[in-house]
Amino acid sequence: MGMKTSQSEALFQQAQTLIPGGVNSPVRAFRGVGGTPRFIERGQGAYIWDADGNRYLDQVLSWGPLILGHAPEVVVQAITEAAARGTSYGAPTRLENELAALVIEMAPSLEMIRFVNSGTEACMSALRLARAYTGRDKIIKFEGCYHGHADMLLVQAGSGVATLGLPDSPGVPASTTAHSLTAPFNDLGAVQALFEQYPHQIAAVIVEPVAGNMGFVMPEPDFLPALQSLCRHNGALFILDEVMTGFRVALGGAQSLWGLDPDLTCLGKVIGGGLPVGAYGGKAAIMKQVAPAGSMYQAGTLSGNPLAMAAGLATLRVLRGEGVFEAIEQLTHALLEGLMDAAHAAGILTQGGQVGTMFGFYFLKTPDAQIKDYASAKAYADPARYARFFHAMLEQGFYFAPSQFEAGFMSAAHTASDVQSLLAAAAAVFQTLASG
Ligand SMILES: *Cc1c(COP(=O)(O)O)cnc(C)c1O
Repeated sequence: MGMKTSQSEALFQQAQTLIPGGVNSPVRAFRGVGGTPRFIERGQGAYIWDADGNRYLDQVLSWGPLILGHAPEVVVQAITEAAARGTSYGAPTRLENELAALVIEMAPSLEMIRFVNSGTEACMSALRLARAYTGRDKIIKFEGCYHGHADMLLVQAGSGVATLGLPDSPGVPASTTAHSLTAPFNDLGAVQALFEQYPHQIAAVIVEPVAGNMGFVMPEPDFLPALQSLCRHNGALFILDEVMTGFRVALGGAQSLWGLDPDLTCLGKVIGGGLPVGAYGGKAAIMKQVAPAGSMYQAGTLSGNPLAMAAGLATLRVLRGEGVFEAIEQLTHALLEGLMDAAHAAGILTQGGQVGTMFGFYFLKTPDAQIKDYASAKAYADPARYARFFHAMLEQGFYFAPSQFEAGFMSAAHTASDVQSLLAAAAAVFQTLASG
């Protein structure tokens, strides 16, 4: 329609000749909604600008990390100062101690932590550690939960896999996933059955506490505490994948909201303040199995990178300031409530949810549909309607995730008036969706 996109189109054409699908991570390609992905030139605060000069209010925020918005001054300054002192040494630094101490202070269950370069690495390493520690091979993951793209975890994974509708990935040998058991999210009975079927063989259960890679699915009230008990009872480690929810749903992560005490926690996204970081941490007795303290090998040339540590530290220090998190949380609440009210007023069926600074909503195909796991998300969500919503909002300068099966995020840079203008635009879009 009105918006000029010729630069993005040209760049996407070129990118497709150079990079598979034109992107370095699948969901960016807009396959879930159709159309041409916008090539971004810069971001500032709550906004991003594309190659054609269009401005968008950003509800994706690099898929979660940018909780202070784009290019916050303190973070840019911290990175700049760190860079001037050298970008990597391959030797330990004071910054790593500082970020480790801060994360351990903020996340109640962590006693020790190891930094890596991505959430994928964090989950992969945490599972290797769980297997090393328990001497067991099998793991349980939940359908539609995404824990990065390590082979053994590409089973019933959400995120880009959900969007693209790939069953599992070719290139992953069956032998690699033979020990990866799956259960539906929110289904304790299924987990119980797996423990009975494979006694003393399950090393760990890994779970996204709030499922944000199949859209947005809340855990049922008792699901997480009961899951933790089941793990304890069966001698398996309870691994909370808080790569998305850490410092997002609460300053202490989902574990602080549900009173959990996971053996291991996976982190990423927010702790890197927009630079590539992941981490896994947990009980000292378990973490001491990691090399060189122990025998479980895990390493990384750029792990604990000084720029990334500086960005993470600057981000977390601002975030824990008086009232900072609460303000973002309130705005997220207002956004989700407003969206759901506007949809309802237009007679559009939706199911939405919000915890802390993270939110999500589904367009539903049928009344009374309740999405509580991956199967119901696939059965009841309406990606075609989401695609129409997405493009109508994009056209007016509001950037939501280019897939029905991803969560949305809010930042400290967003204002009440940003939310108001978004809601006004969304109300009009819901009305046109209702009549079309
Ligand atoms: C994003 C994400 C990952 C993977 O992190 P990357 O940094 O993309 O490798 C793992 N687990 C969860 C819950 C995530 O949201």
